[in-house]
Amino acid sequence: MDIASLRKPELTRRDFMKVAGMTAAYFGISQALTPQIVQALENNAGKAAVIWLEGQSCTGCTESFLNNLEPSATSILLDTISLRYHETAMAASGHQAEAALQATIAEGGYVLVIEGSIPLAEDGAFCTVAGKPFTEIVRETAKNAAAIICVGACATYGGIPRSGPTDAVGYLFRGKELHHYFDDVGAKPVINLPTCPLHNERLTATIVHYLTFGTVPELDQYNRPYAFYGKIQHDNCTRRGNYDTGRFVTDFGNPDQHGFCLILKGCKGPVAKQDCWDRKWNNRGNYCIDAGHPCVACSNPEFYEDTSPLYAHNYDFGLPPL
Ligand code: SF4
Repeated sequence: MDIASLRKPELTRRDFMKVAGMTAAYFGISQALTPQIVQALENNAGKAAVIWLEGQSCTGCTESFLNNLEPSATSILLDTISLRYHETAMAASGHQAEAALQATIAEGGYVLVIEGSIPLAEDGAFCTVAGKPFTEIVRETAKNAAAIICVGACATYGGIPRSGPTDAVGYLFRGKELHHYFDDVGAKPVINLPTCPLHNERLTATIVHYLTFGTVPELDQYNRPYAFYGKIQHDNCTRRGNYDTGRFVTDFGNPDQHGFCLILKGCKGPVAKQDCWDRKWNNRGNYCIDAGHPCVACSNPEFYEDTSPLYAHNYDFGLPPL
């Protein structure tokens, strides 16, 4: 079955306006350019080829992206871009799926999305797809890509698998260090969109920005767009008043501590760079801290190897003294 046969109602101009307005707001682009973004989306509708690879991961980033409601991820995937290969979302499998991948690689000029870490140990034997080590698949797919977007903590810096025995890394980084494993692929624009999992809006806006302007947004030293990762959680936290007045959660089950600062329960907010406090999750329903869970700094390259144990106040990680 071809993925096009799953086509849902197409994106309307109203949907395009929404995505364009969202993208302009996220990247600090003048709203006057919204019509240009809409035009680019309409011109590119269904044309921009995307390959989505998945290595060592839990598929959480895919799930997070598919949860997008406005507009639905299905509409984005089927109407705004041409998703040529995605192990979870595509209907094809086996030889059919591999043929779609090879045909797109031969065409070139696509956006490569990488989800999951890349295990380098034992010549990549810890993760193989269709009999090939993931390291090889990433290398051959990256060569003809126009741009690479790494989604989630694993594909960016190694994530949770980095603390295991497989030498799991992101496309460019092992934690905070560049590993140079894929240098022979050649220079490519690489955009890192960490957090565990990916936030769907950050990917949608990044793809739309690329389709509109043909460039990547301004990035920091770890290839994260400043627009999403330029601010500190702690400086914007709804519990900040309680931190300043020394009211801390010491017992998750104590109702008298409701809304208190979570730093003694391991909150890494003082060093976490993201905008979850503003963007929120699950279609803007809530986010970790408002739900009573400490921020684990999953947007930082140190996550999880250097930030664990998650529920302990870890001064070594650069948290301020209390
Ligand atoms: Fe919020 Fe965490 Fe900072 Fe406390 S330590 S104010 S919970 S970000």
